[in-house]
Amino acid sequence: MTTQFSFQVSTRCSQTKARAGVFYTPHGAVETPRFMPVGTLANVKTVTPTQLQETGAQMVLANTYHLHLQPGERIVEKAGGLHQFMRWNQPILTDSGGFQVFSLSEMRQITDDGVIFRSPHDGQMINLTPERSIQIQNALGADVIMAFDECPPYPASREEVEAATQRTYRWLERCISAHQRPDQALFGIVQGGVYPDLRAAAAEALAGLDLPGYAIGGVSVGEPPELIAKIVQATTPMLPVDKPRYLMGVGTYKEMAQAIASGMDLFDCVIPTRLARHGAALVKGERWNLKNSQYREDFQPLDETCPCYTCQNFTRAYISHLVRSQEILAYTLLTIHNITELVRFTQKIREAIIGDRFTTEFAQWLS
Ligand SMILES: [Zn+2]
Repeated sequence: MTTQFSFQVSTRCSQTKARAGVFYTPHGAVETPRFMPVGTLANVKTVTPTQLQETGAQMVLANTYHLHLQPGERIVEKAGGLHQFMRWNQPILTDSGGFQVFSLSEMRQITDDGVIFRSPHDGQMINLTPERSIQIQNALGADVIMAFDECPPYPASREEVEAATQRTYRWLERCISAHQRPDQALFGIVQGGVYPDLRAAAAEALAGLDLPGYAIGGVSVGEPPELIAKIVQATTPMLPVDKPRYLMGVGTYKEMAQAIASGMDLFDCVIPTRLARHGAALVKGERWNLKNSQYREDFQPLDETCPCYTCQNFTRAYISHLVRSQEILAYTLLTIHNITELVRFTQKIREAIIGDRFTTEFAQWLS
């Protein structure tokens, strides 16, 4: 089913479980560890595919839930699939819609069959099942597709989380049966809330299914950030070492560095694009609000060491002016920089792993 995909680990860190690898897909290779920007509606907001490529992003996300509602997967399929529709010829990953159904939609009813919810667009009731999620993702045509899972909220009781984790496993088996396309890799998702033993058991069960990749889901749902590292530490020892591992919805410096140290490879988060639209920049591990008066007459680039188009051409003063004037270019320039910043952060970790300097160079994020 998955001969068009492979994952090769080139270097392992001598101090931690971090690894540098390459994930091969039908639309090219992804060097890991790697941050992936989010393109919810088949676009990363405010930037063109060419601008996105220049950030160093090798793989982008799109959201099954949102694309199913608008424009609908039939239109994307008619256009020739997501790559052709959005004009991004590198790897794409679609999530299953599970997270959005559980976090965004109202009036939902969960049964063993699936989830029934009301469309926020036209009020119609939609029945999303594991089979339906996979059919939609097969039609969208991303390289990596995700299993439909039940993402329990935080906080949730152990009994609730245990039930959701077991249902996620049953749904994964149905996803595997429904999946039709050998040019798409189906990743399973480990749930288990903040309970390390439930995480470990779920990971062990999923590992037995020999999938082309594994994800840790249900994190970054409101739990204290320090729990993310604990969840990852409990999970990765149970996952196969020769398959890519993706930590869903996590894209902060510290959480990424610590997860990489536990053996995670791929990350995604809306932080860089969302911050950009609020006039904020990620610079050397900090968040800067460009509306602050200190930037009005600051004629340096955001980061003099950053190779991005924004830092190579524009000053903090100019970007501050654009943000204050609510000019659309502000959001484009900040998005280009912010994505470049997080992709570079993971790229630099990759280089440090290869040079066996990870724990010394990134000590500030690992403690
Ligand atoms: Zn920059």
